[in-house]
Amino acid sequence: MREAIKRQQELSADLEPNEKKRADLREEVLRFTEDFLNNIYEGKVFNPEEGTGEVLRSNPMQATQHSISSVIAMLESEMEPYGLNPASGGHLGYIPGGGIYTAALGDYIADITNKYAGVYYASPGAVRMENALIRSIGEIIGYPEDAVGNLASGGSVANLICLVSAREAKGITSENIRKTVIYSSAHGHHCLQKAVRIGGMKEAIWREVPLDNQYRIDANALENQIKEDKKAGLLPTIVIASAGTTDTGSIDPLDEIANIAQEYDLWYHVDAAYGGFFALLDEMKPKFKGIEKSDSAVLDPHKGLFLPYGLGVALVKNREAILEAHHYQANYMQDTAAVKTELSPADLSPELTKHFRGLRLWMPLKLHGIEPFKACLKEKLMLAEYMKQELMKIPGIELICEPELSVVAFRYNCGDEAENEKLNERLIKDIQADGRVFLSSSRVDGKFIIRAAILSFRTHLEIVDYAIDFVRERVRQKT
Ligand SMILES: *Cc1c(COP(=O)(O)O)cnc(C)c1O
Repeated sequence: MREAIKRQQELSADLEPNEKKRADLREEVLRFTEDFLNNIYEGKVFNPEEGTGEVLRSNPMQATQHSISSVIAMLESEMEPYGLNPASGGHLGYIPGGGIYTAALGDYIADITNKYAGVYYASPGAVRMENALIRSIGEIIGYPEDAVGNLASGGSVANLICLVSAREAKGITSENIRKTVIYSSAHGHHCLQKAVRIGGMKEAIWREVPLDNQYRIDANALENQIKEDKKAGLLPTIVIASAGTTDTGSIDPLDEIANIAQEYDLWYHVDAAYGGFFALLDEMKPKFKGIEKSDSAVLDPHKGLFLPYGLGVALVKNREAILEAHHYQANYMQDTAAVKTELSPADLSPELTKHFRGLRLWMPLKLHGIEPFKACLKEKLMLAEYMKQELMKIPGIELICEPELSVVAFRYNCGDEAENEKLNERLIKDIQADGRVFLSSSRVDGKFIIRAAILSFRTHLEIVDYAIDFVRERVRQKT
């Protein structure tokens, strides 16, 4: 028996490379990532080709061993060149992410140490770090120190955590769900409706509140709708505002909605996944006034703090509600229950075992301090303002609305709506085919629009100038 066990140990020893092997592996990986970073400001941001994907599609559960250099070569030929390059500063589509280097180093340490971040008892350090990050992010939006939350994988899961907490706090059950009304804007992120569905609330009434001409919730319309619903015997229960919509970056009137939510006793949730971190800037704080009165909120560090994908923060004031939705006691967890110094992430989210994702945020904050993050956010706002001003100088280009944050939504208007559809569609296709800068399109009020979302930490003046020049040149050729 002992011999047979030893034999298996020898066969599996490849999983524990020695120091020399680790150095060799690292060298090849660093060659790839350094090459990637050294060329990041040169290359294209979008390649519409897909490649054959042959190597990637084949079954990797094989006995064959490949050298690290051949594995890197596979990535270089099949993975890296195709589709979007979200790490590029040319990425101005959707809501860009980030990928700051020091976060990757945090991930490296997190993976090597593999601390168990789900439960305080298992890693007081990882959980203290997570809870401190949650408190400090809450502080940005004026939440009290005893608000709790979770470092989730992204905004979608963070919104889910908040909305199921609302369900518990408001007692939404099979008894009342068909009369329950949830209010949001037509420009709310689609993950909100997804969260309502996953959270078992799809039978509730989903009301899209009319918007004003800047695509913000019309607070009067919201109040009138609530009154009407009450009169009809329905149960207005949750209102969701956005602090930075995806299409236009609009911020709903947070303070007015807060007062309405208070008056009619609704759970008030703010999706600030995109816009929330702009509240770090003193001059932006007035725009976020009222967010501090919400019951729950979401901010995405993998957007507004320039981290690589994989971190969205849920904040909830009512800890009983978030615990009611997520806590669990299992026999095999009995050792963990006794230690109550800090709440455990496992009791505040759908996850038990989770990536030690606090480190990818904590380490950059410790290394850089907060000021470079603020300067970067301010640069993005200024770039958006600059882009708006320059685009407005191009005859035929019109703004969809005033940019409140760093999304510039515009279109070419030749005066003929049928023609506009084709012109703008061709313009966005041309931009994407050129591939040096990536903008995305959307539809607002039935109109085909183009949007530049400036949020990558690598987006600077040069690339914004390139986008403006490209639009100017194309518009000139068409008129
Ligand atoms: C990005 C975004 C989401 C979804 O977050 P993910 O991190 O992509 O899951 C939700 N709401 C808004 C406003 C967003 O910008």
